[in-house]
This record gives sequence, structure tokens and C-alpha cells, in this order.
Amino acid sequence: MQLSETVKLYLNEEQRSLLVRTMDEYIETVNDLVSSALNGAEIQNYSSKDVEADLPSALKNQCIRDARSLLRRYNRQRKTTDSPPVLKRPCCYINNQNYRIKGDRIEFPVSAAGKPRRLSVRTRMSEKQKEVFVSHKLGTLRIVFKNKRIVAQIVYEVKETEPVKEGKEMGVDLGIKCPAVACTSDGLIRFYGNGRKNKYMRRRYASLRKKLQKEKHMDTVRRINSKEQRIMKDIDHKISRKIVDTAVSKDVKVIKLEQLANIRSSTRTSRKNNHSLHSWSFYRLSKFIEYKARKAGITVAYVDPAYTSQRCPVCGSIHHAKDRTYTCKCGFAAHRDILGAMNICNATEYVGGSDIRHTA
Ligand SMILES: [Zn+2]
Repeated sequence: MQLSETVKLYLNEEQRSLLVRTMDEYIETVNDLVSSALNGAEIQNYSSKDVEADLPSALKNQCIRDARSLLRRYNRQRKTTDSPPVLKRPCCYINNQNYRIKGDRIEFPVSAAGKPRRLSVRTRMSEKQKEVFVSHKLGTLRIVFKNKRIVAQIVYEVKETEPVKEGKEMGVDLGIKCPAVACTSDGLIRFYGNGRKNKYMRRRYASLRKKLQKEKHMDTVRRINSKEQRIMKDIDHKISRKIVDTAVSKDVKVIKLEQLANIRSSTRTSRKNNHSLHSWSFYRLSKFIEYKARKAGITVAYVDPAYTSQRCPVCGSIHHAKDRTYTCKCGFAAHRDILGAMNICNATEYVGGSDIRHTA
């Protein structure tokens, strides 16, 4: 499975202007290749010599690979979209043979007025990241803009543990009031996270943002936005760690989660898709659980979210919970926040798979 780590780059003025120019040239080259291919050019057989661009040949080759993969995706989605792919945000990708990490610096090729040149850029890497980079097989280096700053995302390959064959099942229900509730097939119930605290924090940041926007402190607004994001992400890392730790200690072989609707679609398929912001955070937490589980040899399965909060797990009848306790004519009663996790744990219909590509 491929994961990635993001590191900040500290560029001097010359490096910055060289890199920005390279990134602009890079996406322009990819876009040119895509449009020539759509006009009949056989870019399958292209090599760097066939590409007219002020880029080192390593980057030209990467442009060809990117253009091919954009075209492959476009051809697959042709039924749903008619507009050909165009890269809009400047970036550049460098494959693992063409960059080096040395201490806290990254070296990679750019082009300076027609001449290839190697940049050695200072970065900020945590000790944990340095450890990750020396102990894993590295993949592509992606240089991209994030919040108006240029950052490097370094992809690395993580070996997955052989999936456990024997064990229990665990359903995990994600929510706002209770960020996560887990239920195992032998009846263990666990709650994770603190919904009230998260809500309080979100509200505090929202009012701070409103005040700063009124005073037109846009840079500060951006800074506190990314700070809030960092805190939320950290909370999700901790919750997913605890869930997977529980699963490992209780001999769970499969964790079931609800399949969330496409986060860009606005259709309401469940109570979880009412707010795009919330769907996004459910999506992120699902992905964190998924990659931590896979690393531990636990399979993650996605189930249909329909009625998970309304179906009685004993008799199967469907109705809403009237108050904090869900009660059914058949005599079943449970706290409403637990019901979802129980139904997810019991579910046997799996939907969709997942092609994990996690960016930490
Ligand atoms: Zn019932």
C-alpha cells in the first residue's frame, strides 16, 4: 500500500523562482501531451526526445507517464465526462530514481534556461518522517502548492501484514456526537473520541474566523484554518489508532464501516451526508482506520449505510429512535448510538472496494 508524508520546503528566492517556473512548464507539458494524444499523436511511443519543453529529461519522461495515466483515467470515465483532463494547479512529479533525500535536504533536477540543474532544498522533517524515509522503499516525489506554500509529498511503500483469517468482526459507526462507536460480534461496545469537545472547538474557531474576516485579516484566517485542520487530523489519527488497537487486542479479522456516498455528490443517502464538511471528516477517519487496519492485517469492508440507525437487529423492523434509547415492539432496546455499530457489525452486504491512497 502506498502512503505519503508531506514536508515543508524552505526555498531561497532563486530556488523558488526556478521551481515555480519548472512547475508551470511541467503542467503545460503534460497538458500539451494530452491534447496532442487526443488529436491523434501516438504518445505511447514517446521518449523524452519527442517532448519539446524546457525541462530535464527525467521530468519530461515523468510528464509522458502522467499524460498517459490521465488519458487512461479519461478513457475509463468517458461515459460520464466529456471534458478532457487539464492540469490547472502547478506541480511537478519526480520519480524515485531522480531525487535523493540527504539529511533534511531533498535534491532533485530542474531546468535553468535550457540547462539541467540540481536543486538541493532545505526542508522541515520530523524525526518520525526521517525514520520513515530511511526505512521504506520510496516512490514518487510530488511538489505541489498547499495553502499557497510549496511543499513536497513523498510517497512510500508500506508492506501489509498477511490478512488474519480467523477472528471476530467489528462494526464501527462514525458520528458527530460520538465520533466513533465500535461493536464486535461477541458484544463488546467501545466509544471513541469526544464529540462535545470537537463541537466546542469547531464553534470557537468559527467565531474567531468570523471576527477576523470582518477585520479583513485574511492571512490569519488562513493560518487558523490550517491549524484547526491539523488538530482535527490529529484527533482522527488518535481515534483510528485506538480503534485498530482494540481490534488487534480482541482478535478481530474484519472491521466494517459504512460506505459513504461520493463526497462531491450532494445526494442525501444517509444522515451522514447532510453536510459536506462532515462527510469529508467521516471520509478521512474511514481512510485512517482503513490503512492502519491493513497494516495490522485486518480487512476493512464497506457496508450499505441504509437504515443502519433504524433497523432492529433482532426482528429487522425499521423505525426511528424516539429518544436516546431505541426500543422495538419485539422487546429489543439499546442506546441509539450503539444501534448503528451493531447493525454495521451484523451487515453481510458489502459495497464497493477501496483503492487506498492515503496522504498524511
Ligand atoms: Zn425488533
